[in-house]
Formats: sequence, structure tokens, C-alpha cells
Amino acid sequence: MKTLLNNIDLNGALFGNSNIGFVPTMGSLHDGHISLIKKSLKLSNKTIVSIFVNPKQFNNKGDYKKYPRNIKKDLKILKKLKVHFVYLPEIREIFKSTNKFKIKLNNQDRILCAKYRKGHFEGVIDVMIRLTQIVNPSKIFMGEKDFQQLLLVKRYIEKKFKSKIISCKTIRGKNKLALSSRNILLNKNNYNKAGKIARNLIFFKKKLLRKKNLKDLISIKRNELKKKYDIKIDYLELRNTKSLRLTNKVKNSRIFIAYYINKVRLIDNF
Ligand code: AMP
Repeated sequence: MKTLLNNIDLNGALFGNSNIGFVPTMGSLHDGHISLIKKSLKLSNKTIVSIFVNPKQFNNKGDYKKYPRNIKKDLKILKKLKVHFVYLPEIREIFKSTNKFKIKLNNQDRILCAKYRKGHFEGVIDVMIRLTQIVNPSKIFMGEKDFQQLLLVKRYIEKKFKSKIISCKTIRGKNKLALSSRNILLNKNNYNKAGKIARNLIFFKKKLLRKKNLKDLISIKRNELKKKYDIKIDYLELRNTKSLRLTNKVKNSRIFIAYYINKVRLIDNF
């Protein structure tokens, strides 16, 4: 595995390679990331994983500071997986060139996390454009765990570049909580609670198939979760998986949730 610290090294290392698979991450790798990497290793000639905690996508400085970082462990994992390249850029390496693409979300896009984390997706898309220009991959592997991010990045990147976004299923722990680097920030009690919330919503989604008045049921569920688990919910909504519009039909839909459990913000979809 070659470690690449700057763009000159990267260009040299990738030169002459085709069918490059790219897995962008913010590190603190877990089995969710590993599933993306394994898919890339299977579908690409060479796989490059980036670890870059993107300051631009944090709408809160404290959140950026406390974001888990564990580079030593990450490198061990990547080496064991036989990843070809790991890209560890400094902040200035990524932002030294100007981004000529305008990033402005439509009003229809200002939903879910875009509504509650101002500037977040603009920061994500900006860095994804920069990374795609630097790496120039055939395929970029992204997780359904961050479903809104996946759809937005797909729309922007596939319009501007030849790279294809490959979506990958959400990987969950034994207790059904979606794996996330942020889970490390949860104490045992809250980790268990978050697992219960995930199981609750998996069961709830199945039950919705036989029900009517889904909007009311979701509103009731929101209050129930809030009281039962003492969480602050940003949103709990049923949306169409293609358009992300609010829907009353279970077919082609997902339940989207974002909530705070003791100041740690978790998102998931079912
Ligand atoms: P992050 O390091 O959190 O920015 O995530 C990097 C990539 O891994 C993104 O495409 C995420 O959607 C994906 N990812 C994170 N957690 C999971 C998970 N539990 N299952 C599948 N993909 C995930």
C-alpha cells in the first residue's frame, strides 16, 4: 500500500492506471467503510481510499474538533485489506485551487440534513468535486447510510465528471445500529438506546405496509421516540427514495431520521 501525502505523489502513483475505484472517507474506519472498500477492490483495478476530515462540511466548530480521528488504526486496517493507495491530504492541499463550479442547492434540496445543517452539503459537494478532479476515478463508492449525501453527490458529480457513483448498503452492528465513526462518542447506555431506536424503526417500517394515514402514524412515532428515549429529533419523515419528496406510500420510500442523543447527532434511514 502506497501512502500519498500530496497531489504530486498522487498523480505520479495513479498515472497510467485505468478503472480506479475511489472510497472517500473521514477516517476512524469501521465495517461500513470496509464494505465500500471491499466492493471497490472487487470492481476496480486499483483502489484508493482518502482520509480527510473536511472542515467545510462541519457547520459547528466543536463538532469538527471532536470528530473521532484514529489514523494509526486506519492505516493498519487499509494495509490488511490490501488497498493500493491511501491519500492523506493536508487541508491546504485540497483547497489550494479554486473551485470553478458553483454549488447552490435548489429550494427542493433544502430538506432533511440540508435544512438542519446549514452549509453542510455545500461543503461536502465542494470537497467531492475537488477530490474527483484530483483522483479522476472511474467509480466512487458511497454508503446508503448517508442517503441524502449519496443522492446529492451523485447528481453533482455525474453531471460534471465521467466518474460513476456506486451506492453501497448500510452496514449495521449486532444491535442494528448503523455503524458510524460517531458511535465512539456514545457511552454504553446511549449506544444501547440508539440500537433500540434502530430496531424500533425497522419494525415500524415493516408495520407501515399494512397501514393508512402514515403521516399521523409517523407523527405519533416521533413523539413516542422522543419521550421513551429522551432524544431531540431534528426530523422523522417518510420520503420517496428517488425524489426525496415527502410521501404517504411505503413503496419506494424510506424513513429518514436525525436525532441528538446526549449531544451526539446520529442519522439513519430504513
Ligand atoms: P464518513 O467517513 O462517515 O464520511 O463515510 C465515508 C463513506 O462511508 C460515506 O460514503 C458513508 O456513507 C459510508 N458509510 C459510513 N457508514 C456506513 C455504514 N454503516 N454502512 C455503509 N456505508 C457507510
